[in-house]
Amino acid sequence: MKSTSMLDDLSILNIQSSLRKLKEKKIGALELTDFFLNRAKKLEALGAYITLDPEQARKEAALADHLIATEGKDAFIKKPLLGVPLAIKDMICTKDLKTTAASLILENFIPPYDATAVAKLKAAGGIILGKTNMDEFAMGSSNENSAFFAACNPWDTSRVPGGSSGGSAVAVAARLALGALGTDTGGSIRQPAAFSGIVGLKPTYGRVSRYGAIAFASSLDQIGPMALNVDDASLLLSIISGEDQHDSTSAAVAPPKFNFLNSENKEQSPSSSIKGLRIGVPKEYMSAAGINPEVEKIIRAALEKFVELGARLVEISLPNTNLALAAYYIIAPAEASSNLARYDGVRYGRRAKISPKDSLFEMYAKSRGEGFGREVRRRIVIGTYVLSSGYYDAYYLQALKARRLVFEDFVKAFQDCCDIIACPTSPTTAFKLNEKTSDPVAMYLNDIYTIPVNLAGLPAISIPCGFDSQKLPCGLQLIGNAWDEERLLKVAKIYESNTGWKDRLPPTVEVLP
Ligand code: GLN
Repeated sequence: MKSTSMLDDLSILNIQSSLRKLKEKKIGALELTDFFLNRAKKLEALGAYITLDPEQARKEAALADHLIATEGKDAFIKKPLLGVPLAIKDMICTKDLKTTAASLILENFIPPYDATAVAKLKAAGGIILGKTNMDEFAMGSSNENSAFFAACNPWDTSRVPGGSSGGSAVAVAARLALGALGTDTGGSIRQPAAFSGIVGLKPTYGRVSRYGAIAFASSLDQIGPMALNVDDASLLLSIISGEDQHDSTSAAVAPPKFNFLNSENKEQSPSSSIKGLRIGVPKEYMSAAGINPEVEKIIRAALEKFVELGARLVEISLPNTNLALAAYYIIAPAEASSNLARYDGVRYGRRAKISPKDSLFEMYAKSRGEGFGREVRRRIVIGTYVLSSGYYDAYYLQALKARRLVFEDFVKAFQDCCDIIACPTSPTTAFKLNEKTSDPVAMYLNDIYTIPVNLAGLPAISIPCGFDSQKLPCGLQLIGNAWDEERLLKVAKIYESNTGWKDRLPPTVEVLP
């Protein structure tokens, strides 16, 4: 592999900078792809990928090089991601490429089609390097529920990278891909982005088609981008967004437009553009019991930065915040128990070895018992229980009412007092591997700031905003009004370009090559 100065300097390697080099023919798509495939192999111990697809990736990269050689810069008009190596969470279907949801039950599942978001990335010229590790069926906050292996945090390998899209976060943070897709049902893009020091965006519910995303809790799931900076996330979002005839919950809303993307990374003059912006700070979040004091301090410093840039802080109240976690842990398992009923050893997935004496029921029970891990079984039991007659009204209906109240809190806040909401992404920075595995409630509490956003269907982004005394990254969460991704990303970008947080490299990354 020819070494170029750009590939030697990891701190400037991202989607936008790579696209520029590809356009100027200073680097080739195959060269870039090989670079990431090599890194992914060498840093295999981080556990980022479940499956790599070198053959297909190299084939696509060679095609991209051919297109660039024949059409020059024009090739990028039709294919704005031409030659860009990306990673896809193993929850999202990829044609002819194993998609496991990190579950034994789908260990050998090869989808016959691409998820819409993946199809769009491919059509835009993106190169799919492989499928990333995750918590089984996206249930978890640490990536430790993967049926195959855990992933570890590139900033400190004794710690979790967050979850459930942990592998995607590691792949991006450790520079094993230029960008990635994750899915977010209760925080699974934003929390691992925060723990791993990258940018992660959950779009407004309906912004991105869920077709081909393995269903966990269909009324909450969204696919979204994970990237090294806000520009890259914006570009990926603009490509994967849009109405899709295969997903009736995808909305007929035009993909967001990001003017700043065309600026060839010129520093904009940001302070003027957030002058007067009203940033809501939820009092229930900042004074919450479980918030780590260091995290609170870092977030308060980030808020001060916004003031310096011309924004105004407004204290807001989201009074039903305390209902959100309980409502989520009824609604999500209820939907999961129904969605996961399809894995029965007949229609999909693994079938247990049975004896001729076994009944059909025993075949189902054995297949599901062997195929699903502990956390998934726990959720199926909870979900089946809250939907059963006699308990439906007491739990499921109550949870739906609580969800409505959480939603209305946000509506009121945006109507009355603020343009955007700022808060922590997670109450702590990355915790130790095994620290919470025996205490599911402690694990669930990690989602306290991310879950309300899914219940309300809103867009939210996590961006790096500092480091704690252990040198672990901390994430700032910005929450936007429904369909207001343009403003959300603009504000995030302004913060980003006035701070240097995104430019630090995790220690594991610099080791190689
Ligand atoms: N950690 C949450 C859960 O376990 C959220 C998961 C997600 O967003 N997929 O359900």
